[in-house]
Amino acid sequence: MVEAVESAEFRCPFCRSTFPPIQESKTSFVGWYVSIVLLSVSLALFISCFGILIFWVPLCFAWMPLVFLRDHWSKCNSCGIKLD
Ligand SMILES: [Zn+2]
Repeated sequence: MVEAVESAEFRCPFCRSTFPPIQESKTSFVGWYVSIVLLSVSLALFISCFGILIFWVPLCFAWMPLVFLRDHWSKCNSCGIKLD
């Protein structure tokens, strides 16, 4: 009953549902790209004889784009249509 107050203004343009939309997120293309670049740099350092000491440095940052560079959107709880 209480949750319905906030969702009272929402109405899905497709199915007219008044259920509150679901928040979705996934790693964006840029996030994957940056992460792969960092992993590649780490691998390149690992292969080179000098980099064996510091190859773990980019490896420590490789996970960050996957967590922070994400796309967020909401979708309809009822029909699943993507809402902007
Ligand atoms: Zn809908």
